[in-house]
Amino acid sequence: MSKKVVVIGEAREGSLRNVTFEAIAAANIVSDGGEVVGVLCGNGDLSEMGQEMVYYGADRVITVSNEELKTYTTEGYGQAVYAVIEDESPEGIIMGHTSQGKDLTPKLASKLESGLISDATEIVAEGGNIVFTRPIYSGKAFEKKEITDGLVFATIRPNNIPAPNRDDSLAGAVTTKDVEIKSIRTIVKDIIRKSSDGVDLSEAKVIIAGGRGVKSAEGFEPLEELADVLGGTVGASRGACDAGYCDYSLQIGQTGKVVTPDLYIACGISGAIQHLAGMSNSKVIVAINKDPEANIFNVADYGIVGDLFDVVPQLIEEVKQM
Ligand code: FAD
Repeated sequence: MSKKVVVIGEAREGSLRNVTFEAIAAANIVSDGGEVVGVLCGNGDLSEMGQEMVYYGADRVITVSNEELKTYTTEGYGQAVYAVIEDESPEGIIMGHTSQGKDLTPKLASKLESGLISDATEIVAEGGNIVFTRPIYSGKAFEKKEITDGLVFATIRPNNIPAPNRDDSLAGAVTTKDVEIKSIRTIVKDIIRKSSDGVDLSEAKVIIAGGRGVKSAEGFEPLEELADVLGGTVGASRGACDAGYCDYSLQIGQTGKVVTPDLYIACGISGAIQHLAGMSNSKVIVAINKDPEANIFNVADYGIVGDLFDVVPQLIEEVKQM
């Protein structure tokens, strides 16, 4: 049965995040030929980004612009999105399983007295039903979920559901809605970006991750060079973060970021279960480790037994010659 589905878009520094387009793809599956309505909150003129959501498959987009929405706060964005949802009465809501998505959607779900399927990695229409796949037990297993009654509310893991191709011939209205934002108790003073090059790990296509085997902050330099030549970014295990070799913003795993890049190269990482929880869904995993018994080789598509300080420079040279 066709549905009206709202997609909550996400922008950062004036650009839509790729997961917004993936959420539109997901919403189009859930809507089953119904209407996909984008919502975008922020401050200033959001019409260009709203138009972009149309080019990626939203039937129409509602923007909510307000000085109080300049930076994300649960209270501000919660009020803005809730006001749109009240107007639209959708049968489905989709958002990215990002920091914002993880923060905003449970609050909305509780206000709407709805369930929520979080962190979906696949959505398929099966015999008239929509089936969501999501990881459980820290990624050791996957469960399939169906919502048989009420609102179909879900967050999707970045980099799993392919975004539609942009089509600039698609047309759809981009309208604005005024929402009075009241009693915000959170004041964002400053945003300090710690990630090495501004690439969000959860959306990176190539990640070169270092573990305790990297041995020092300087030991990360060859990994950064490999990331540069491959157009990727650097991540880390908690072992490396705890040892002070890099910032915790790079941590991947159960208590760090969950990533699904096309290519994950683990350097000097043993493959503890808590680390695997954040990266085992990567499309291609390459492990470099001195220890042939290291657990990381159990999830790797390609394993290199060797010293990372020999192997990584060789990889850099090979890639440079390609
Ligand atoms: P180690 O386990 O010490 O492994 C280092 C590896 O480097 C070894 O396999 C060694 O053979 C190899 N090595 C050494 N020198 C070289 C060399 N020159 N060349 C090649 N290989 C070399 N961990 C996470 O990563 N993310 C999380 O989110 C996370 N959350 C956790 C939550 C909880 C509640 C707990 C209890 C733990 C969590 N951990 C997490 C920690 C986790 O259990 C491991 O301790 C951690 O992942 C180990 O990091 P590591 O693989 O870098 O270090």
